[in-house]
Amino acid sequence: MSYSNSIIFGPIPSRRFGISLGVDLSPSSKQCNFDCLYCELEGSKTVDSMISYPKVKEVIEAVQESFDKHPKIDVITVTANGEPTLYPKLDELIDEVNIIKNNTKTLILSNGSKIYDENIFNTLLKFDTVKLSLDCVSAKCFKKLDRNHKGIDVQKIVSSMIEFSKTTRNQFVLEILFVKDINDKEEEINLLYDAVKKINPSRVDIGTIDRPPAYDVKPVSFESLEYIANKFEGINVNIAYKKRPKQTNSFSKDEIISMLKRRPLTFEDIDNLFDDNSKNILKNLAELKIVSIIDSGGVNFYKIL
Ligand code: SF4
Repeated sequence: MSYSNSIIFGPIPSRRFGISLGVDLSPSSKQCNFDCLYCELEGSKTVDSMISYPKVKEVIEAVQESFDKHPKIDVITVTANGEPTLYPKLDELIDEVNIIKNNTKTLILSNGSKIYDENIFNTLLKFDTVKLSLDCVSAKCFKKLDRNHKGIDVQKIVSSMIEFSKTTRNQFVLEILFVKDINDKEEEINLLYDAVKKINPSRVDIGTIDRPPAYDVKPVSFESLEYIANKFEGINVNIAYKKRPKQTNSFSKDEIISMLKRRPLTFEDIDNLFDDNSKNILKNLAELKIVSIIDSGGVNFYKIL
């Protein structure tokens, strides 16, 4: 089978990384070891390895062809119609990509399930940014929401994420997708926060369903995400929500400092929460170096260090 047309998608402008070239390692069909309730692909039987996949040579040729056509690509995003770490030649592939990529960054989007496989762990260390999902910490919730292939142990995933975060010198982003009445319960949020503190990733993206899901599940509200973000004290939390309500307020210098001590805020948060006067106070605090601006995997935060 020839895959060369469908391996690549884009390049497309991405808000975080500039121009992104997408690489799909499972272009022929969904191959995943999860069958998440919220998946934007159709529900399907889980697998623990890919049966049909393009050769490394085909992927590299397709990437090279895109490089030749589009000289300004900022990031190669490795993903799959399913789970990219099930691609059996991932290590060889990233080595080859790293040879031809020049200044282009590499990013992989994975469900995190294979991180406790030593080979995958080491392969992931070769990417500039690794973004892994962690939707639940309790085995019950994990099974209900991510509907994992048998034998996948969420406790081992969390332990390996802690180890990965300590080992990597690159960006490690965690993503949590909240689904109404499943992982938005207080007990699960607390477990997630405890795990996130121990994992200590560069950033946590929290979001909810925003495309038609595979099964009949509902998104949580923006207010719920804000509530969760505020519970994740001290963590760089980025709320990923398409139609945020704009509710600007006036804050004093002390209020701004205490908000940022509790949780760093993204530029987008500031735009939605701060009126012009509060933005000027914040700007002043940044000039005085009381507040710092940090870039975490393409997302800017105001933070008190
Ligand atoms: S891990 Fe991703 S591709 Fe796999 S079922 Fe879940 S959402 Fe779909």
